[in-house]
Order: sequence, then structure tokens, then C-alpha cells
Amino acid sequence: MSATEPAVEPTATQNETVPVAAAASAPKVILSSEQKEIFDRISKNENSELKLVLAQFKQSVDFVDDNGMTPLQHAAYKGNKDAVQMLLDQGADVNSGKHEYNYTALHFGALSGSVDVCMKLLLAGAKSDAVNTIGRTAAQMAAFVANHQVVATINGFVPIKDIECYTKIQGSQKEPLLPVVHLEGFHKFIMQTNIHPVRIALNLQKFGLFAVDLMRIRLVLDEMRERDMDRRNEINEVMAFKYHYLGYMVNEIEKCRHYFLARKAEGSNGKDQKSDFVELFAKRVLKQGKDGALEYVEATIRECVREFPFREYAIFRQVVTQLASKDNSASALEIIKAAINGQRGFQDTISLCSSCGEEKPDKKCSKCKQVQYCDRECQRLHWFMHKKVCARPSSTTGQTGPAKDAKKEIDSAEINEQLQKLMAS
Ligand SMILES: [Zn+2]
Ligand SMILES: [Zn+2]
Repeated sequence: MSATEPAVEPTATQNETVPVAAAASAPKVILSSEQKEIFDRISKNENSELKLVLAQFKQSVDFVDDNGMTPLQHAAYKGNKDAVQMLLDQGADVNSGKHEYNYTALHFGALSGSVDVCMKLLLAGAKSDAVNTIGRTAAQMAAFVANHQVVATINGFVPIKDIECYTKIQGSQKEPLLPVVHLEGFHKFIMQTNIHPVRIALNLQKFGLFAVDLMRIRLVLDEMRERDMDRRNEINEVMAFKYHYLGYMVNEIEKCRHYFLARKAEGSNGKDQKSDFVELFAKRVLKQGKDGALEYVEATIRECVREFPFREYAIFRQVVTQLASKDNSASALEIIKAAINGQRGFQDTISLCSSCGEEKPDKKCSKCKQVQYCDRECQRLHWFMHKKVCARPSSTTGQTGPAKDAKKEIDSAEINEQLQKLMAS
């Protein structure tokens, strides 16, 4: 907590170094030239220069400016993930600061909209339940400014120490459920906010989890679900539901792998061995029915929800009500995505990968330019469907429907006013 006493420096060389006293409540801070330079470099996103000053700077980096903001808070507000990392490496206290409205570095990161910045802060121990002077958490502020990815990232964050126990032998086990070498991959896997079944399969692959018996991954997820249900609060209910869903999908993927391997062992169709089981799974997932719906996904999610063991909880009732509603045109996947990520049912105009549902993909089909993908792999997995419509005059693009009015969960003039003040300062 103790901010290092700033070195006292003569400031009278230039008039503007002594700001006109604005508010009696904000005591003026005298900064050393290095401290000023650190703020200055951050404000201009001059990362390599910042690195040089920090290399020479031997004091604590938890000093504050006139607004009570630390360098880390400024870097977070800029959404500058490299500067945030440098300051954390230099020992910045992620929960430090004396901001006049009690904003933490995470509040600032949430306002910046940078998922990377928020993830770095969370991994460094940022408290996501800290509230500002109007009683809002970082996730609530992010929701207010419609940074939905950030909301999902903060709400879905799990400290790695919460899952370390699964890498240890428990009770009568002969070996731990989760091999310790897969702890990091599993941690990343459960914190992914994109819960599209294709993305789940691609992430299992990406994070090396196909090397683990998938039934064990499911067991860990089931245990995490039970554990979170014991804690009984709104966030844990959502997490419990997420673990249930992930576990269910992992099981579906395992069934698919099993089927694929059995078929391969039979040596069916000798020639047709180019496909892998991720592709087989993607084909099940992405196969559209006559009305364009993903029938397998609809059916599987409904079955998954039916198997959720905690029926008395709000999350279950909310999802079931929405799935049953006749006026709700959202797909089952959209409904549970909103339930899990805290987006409360509204849609954005943002583009999605036609294969895995990832937001704002970089690539598009070079032929028709109507559909977008993360990369060639996503395009490859979707081609069996897309080839039927590619290069035709566009009518259906596989994108989500038109944007509905974003209903703001928190709608308070108070927040707006405070944001205005923040921008001004
Ligand atoms: Zn994709
Ligand atoms: Zn195309």
C-alpha cells in the first residue's frame, strides 16, 4: 500500500509544471522528472522509450499523479498491453491507486475495451469485485460502454490456484485427474469466452488437451460444476453452468473421436482418410437444416440443458424459459452464449467466423467475400456447407441477424456523468 516517497525536485524551472489548483480534495503531487517521463511515455504509447526509463527506474512504480492514478492505471486506460506487462514485470501493484472515484486498474482496462489488458491484470491478481464510488465493478462498467468481450473475460476468469487441486492425487486416486503439464492448457481452455462447439474442439486441440483422456477433462469439469454450486451466488451459478456445458461438449467430441477411430480401425473406404475427427465433428456441428438452423447444435444444447442437475437455480430457469419461448428467435447457442457470458440476450452487429463463431475474424472467403473466418482451418471446416452458396449472389451469409437495440443493463445518468469527467481529466 505504501507509495514510495517521490523524490523532491525543483519544479520552478517552467511555469506549467505547477498546475493551477483545481480541487481542494486533490492534493497536489510533486513528481520527479523520471516519474513525469513515465506518465508521459505511457500517455503517448511510446513503449520502447518507456522500457528504457523503467530499466533505469529503481523505485516503486506505484506512485500517483494528481488524479491519484498510477502508471499501471494509465497504461490500462490506454489499452496498452505491452506497457501494462512492463509495469507488472517491474512490480506494479495491480490493486494499488488512489483514484478519486476509486477506479482500479481493472476498471480502466475494462473501459479501454482491451481483453488482453484485462486478462493480464486478472492474472496478476486484480480484484474483479472492487467497486468504484458509484458502486460498479469493472465488468459492470465494461457492460455500460458495451465492451462485451471484456465483460465475458472478467466474469469468466478463474484463478489458476482454483484448479491446481486437480493436478494432485485426491482420496483413493492412483494418479491425479489432470496431468500437471496440462494445467496451463486446461486453464486457458476453461476461460475461453467463445463457447461455439467448433471452437471448443479447436481449443482442445490448440491447448494440447487431445493428449489427455477427454473423459478425465469431463470429470474435472463436473467436479468444478459441483464445487461452484456449493458456493451459491450468481456468478458461480453461471460458472457451474459453463462447466456443465463444456463438459457435455467435451463428451460429444470424445464420442466423435471414438467413432472416428473405430471407423478408421475397420479401414473403411481405404482412400478416404484425409479427414480427421475435428473435421468430422465440425461437419456435424455446422450442417445446416433447410431453415438454416444448426440442427445438431440445437438438439445437443437442449439435451445438455436438460441434464443440468441444479434445476432450482436462476440460470437454469432463465435458459429453459428462453429456449421454450416462441417469440425468441435466437438460436440455442445464442441463448446460452448470452447466459454464460453475461450479455443478457442482446446481439451485436459484429461479424463472426462462420465456422467457429469467433468475433471479428480477420479473413474472408476470397471468392464471394460474403463469409468471414479466423484462418484457413476455419474455412476448411466450413467449406462443405459454404461451397453450396459460394459465389452466388448474396442472400444468406450465415451471419447473425440484424442488430437489435442494445438494451443497456445499467442505465444511469450517473455513470455517464462520471465517464464524462473521466474523459476530461
Ligand atoms: Zn473461426
Ligand atoms: Zn465464398
